[in-house]
Amino acid sequence: MYEDEVKVEETETEAAPVEFQDETLVCVECGNEFVFTAGEQAFYAEKGYTNKPKRCKACRDAKKNANKPPRQTYVAVCSECGGEAILPFEPSKDKPVYCSACFEKRRNAR
Ligand SMILES: [Zn+2]
Ligand SMILES: [Zn+2]
Repeated sequence: MYEDEVKVEETETEAAPVEFQDETLVCVECGNEFVFTAGEQAFYAEKGYTNKPKRCKACRDAKKNANKPPRQTYVAVCSECGGEAILPFEPSKDKPVYCSACFEKRRNAR
């Protein structure tokens, strides 16, 4: 006696994953063509974004950087040559400050 073979039915009721294909779009900013990759499309779909990107990566990056505030710099007088010293930090009154040229010179002199 042997059992009836159990038939395993292969059901395909589950939704098949959407196939994404690279798509070439035109940037509204610079007019260059750029690729909206399958990976990016999957990412967009996952996030629920329905809009396609309007700009190429370069323009998006440029926009991102444009929104960043410029780095704060301070202008001081170089203690060495009396020239203009641009500093990325606020100069303290009791410490000498140097312009980049003098700073380099001093560092190399060591
Ligand atoms: Zn562009
Ligand atoms: Zn100097």
